[in-house]
Amino acid sequence: MNLWYRAEMSAKIVPPTSENLQTACSILAAGGLVAMPTETVYGLCADAANPIAIARIYDVKGRPDFNPLIAHIAGLEMAERQGHFSADAKALAGAIWPGPLSMVVNIRDTTSIASIARAGLDSVALREPSHPVARSLISTFGVPLVAPSANLSGRISPTRAQHVFDDLGDRIDLIIDGGACQSGLESTIIDARDAHPALLRLGPIAAPEIDALWPGLKQADLSAEKPVSPGQLLRHYAPNARLRINAITALPDEGYLGFGPVESDLNLSPASDLIEAAANLFDMLRQLDAQYTQIAVAPIPSGGVGDTINERLARAAERA
Ligand code: AMP
Ligand code: MG
Repeated sequence: MNLWYRAEMSAKIVPPTSENLQTACSILAAGGLVAMPTETVYGLCADAANPIAIARIYDVKGRPDFNPLIAHIAGLEMAERQGHFSADAKALAGAIWPGPLSMVVNIRDTTSIASIARAGLDSVALREPSHPVARSLISTFGVPLVAPSANLSGRISPTRAQHVFDDLGDRIDLIIDGGACQSGLESTIIDARDAHPALLRLGPIAAPEIDALWPGLKQADLSAEKPVSPGQLLRHYAPNARLRINAITALPDEGYLGFGPVESDLNLSPASDLIEAAANLFDMLRQLDAQYTQIAVAPIPSGGVGDTINERLARAAERA
């Protein structure tokens, strides 16, 4: 079996020194799993060309196997070795990458990305993260890394190294600590295969920003889309606690997650800043989840990143 699979031992949390990044690359090259910080959430990396390592990702996350992974690359050139980019897709990638936008493109015949990472599709989702640690890990490794969120499938995404340890510490090989994730929400995903892009998942890059660079952005017809993305599964990003959204006040026994100048157990942004709220969302949900069986969340204004926060909260509030 796999050399690096050490179920009885806990993964170390290490700082992103160049020595530790080298160690991470050796682990990845041997088929191991390494968690890395990105500007969205922490990702659980494996060599995108190694089907056994990727099978382990599905296994440790408990992720449904119909669910393809995003391959993380360093630079458009690396992306173009894997997939076909139209002139429009290329211009969009050139304008937004590195950043929190994943683009689904058709694979090249010569792609090195394993079929299991693509759930057997002839397309692949690619993203160039902007986090300096993610960038140096991918560049040092030299070939794409798949990196779904480093948490148990369906649960709250990790935005701190400790979150990764809490969920997966005993099942993975190394955790690189890059501090708190800046954006705190999973990447926006678009389908970039056609003449006009289609929005597959809301995220930090808002629709108008994409539309301004590549006009004609449409909402994907997800009823017809296979595979279903986790963002499309009704209950997702979920705490153990029962979650009540748009709550003006908390009921007795509820932990209250506030927004704006309100009294609360934890506050996403006392100054009503949506960007700050997004960055705090998953960490504060995890903190309250550890203390309460019921969590009430204050109303979050719509518009921009507020729409993405509300979408994540609505899914987290769904009962299984
Ligand atoms: P994550 O859970 O953040 O790793 O996001 C993976 C998401 O990307 C899933 O929702 C997938 O459905 C979506 N995705 C990845 N590859 C493809 C693809 N080839 N076609 C459509 N969606 C994809
Ligand atoms: Mg996820």
